[in-house]
Amino acid sequence: MIYRTFQDLQLSSLGMGAMRLPTIDGDDARIDVEKTKAMVAYAMEHGINYYDTAWGYHDGNSELVMGEALKAYPRDSFYLATKFPGYDLANMPKVKEIFEKQLEKLGVDYFDFYLFHNVCEMNIDAYLDDEKYGIYSYLMEQKTNGRIKHLGFSAHGNIDTMKRFLEKYGKDMEFCQIQLNYLDYHFQEAQEKIELLQSYDIPVWVMEPLRGGRLAKLDEGSEKTLKALRPKETIPAWAFRFLQSLSQVVVTLSGMSNMEQLQQNIATFEQDQPLTDKEMQTLLGLADEMVKKIALPCTACHYCTSHCPMGLDIPTLVSLYNEHAFTGGGFIAPMALSAIPEDKQPSACIGCRQCEMVCPQQIKVSEMMKDFVARMQ
Ligand code: SF4
Ligand code: SF4
Repeated sequence: MIYRTFQDLQLSSLGMGAMRLPTIDGDDARIDVEKTKAMVAYAMEHGINYYDTAWGYHDGNSELVMGEALKAYPRDSFYLATKFPGYDLANMPKVKEIFEKQLEKLGVDYFDFYLFHNVCEMNIDAYLDDEKYGIYSYLMEQKTNGRIKHLGFSAHGNIDTMKRFLEKYGKDMEFCQIQLNYLDYHFQEAQEKIELLQSYDIPVWVMEPLRGGRLAKLDEGSEKTLKALRPKETIPAWAFRFLQSLSQVVVTLSGMSNMEQLQQNIATFEQDQPLTDKEMQTLLGLADEMVKKIALPCTACHYCTSHCPMGLDIPTLVSLYNEHAFTGGGFIAPMALSAIPEDKQPSACIGCRQCEMVCPQQIKVSEMMKDFVARMQ
């Protein structure tokens, strides 16, 4: 196992994410406890020392099962991470109650890593309103009394939202978890997000290294190109080699659902084999091609926005449409849309086409808006 240095710790470069544990009869809420225990045992034996769960994973049962699985091991033999569930605004006034319950569910008296979960457009105002909800103050207090060893945040929002969060709390954030993979490097501003974090000296934890499994298999042509460069490398391994090439990345979390995936991922993390410049260029070139096939080529130039009689934030809506189309739904676009007022939603478009007349990319915005409304129904 490769290890990365974080402060005075050596963290396994591969962390076990507990958001897609094996389940019974495909029911997300019913985790197969025995299979999970076997996976944790294998992970521990093979050097994984980082385990990441959250309040909401598996309908609240991930924390319970991970607590059950990890209690077989000395508390100082693993690092445990969980998160405050601010993705649901109803949780905002309950930080103390939730934190205490999490300690109880996991059967521990401290967390090695604790995160503000999913900082995004929908919850940023509440997260920043420390006077009203006191989440930041409470978590800092837990840090002082040793019940949180390291405080960080995870972010699914856009870069401006991350900036707002960092401007207020950046000096106290020790790590940040973002969606990072070779597809999102350009597509979802992941590269800019890494640079932003670097300016605060905050190391990166990675989620969705395989973009929910999408990068486990590519089209025939892309696979051939990659095989020609590294004949023995598997396709999923390319996603991990990409991350091994980024010096800011400390832990890569993979939500593994069975023993086979775990074994394959551990094998990939036995050796540090970062990409060469040529390999990196090829991989990012393939990613750009993949994105182009589905995404509308909006450059966010904003020429259109002043022409829209409805005042819609067209580039943001195009970007969410692309995300939605690319993921075949997913949760990022619906979540971000839910934070946009009714009169600025795609449904507010009156189809006047003023925007299309000035769009240098000739994007048929009015049709996109109509299609977006239909997709969201
Ligand atoms: S077509 Fe829709 S998005 Fe474009 S200018 Fe008109 S109202 Fe705005
Ligand atoms: S004018 Fe076209 S490319 Fe520019 S932001 Fe609007 S939709 Fe995007």
